[in-house]
Amino acid sequence: MPLFRPSRKRTDEEEKSRFSTHTLRKIKRNVLNSLLTSGASTYPNEFGGILRSEDPGVVTDMLLIPGTTAGHRHANFQLYMLPVDLTVVGTAHSHPSGAVHPSEEDLTLFRHWGRIHIILGFPFKGWCWKAYNNSGDEVKLEVVD
Ligand code: ZN
Repeated sequence: MPLFRPSRKRTDEEEKSRFSTHTLRKIKRNVLNSLLTSGASTYPNEFGGILRSEDPGVVTDMLLIPGTTAGHRHANFQLYMLPVDLTVVGTAHSHPSGAVHPSEEDLTLFRHWGRIHIILGFPFKGWCWKAYNNSGDEVKLEVVD
């Protein structure tokens, strides 16, 4: 008799969730707070950062990209500056205008790189942000401690 026998076949969803590519559904509160603080301290310019996930499904870290030039119009992501790091899952940047929907340039970036993208808007309070997937569709991220 085998020591371990799965009682049933795993569903596709369960199969997918075994891999690090599965959907991000949560963000650590301290990461969100750091993003909002960065947005506020860079205002009226934009800031750009990178999101990392070391815990499957959860955004656990953010790092500022060296060489990212913040301007009034758009954070210029220097993605070639990134370390080769499989925990990197997406981007975050601020919109000093306060609008938290993606611009055309943002959508182009989202389509080409990363799986989760956060936009933060003035005045950078707890509700002044939204997350988007590759297609630019809004994604609900649960804030967790
Ligand atoms: Zn933008």
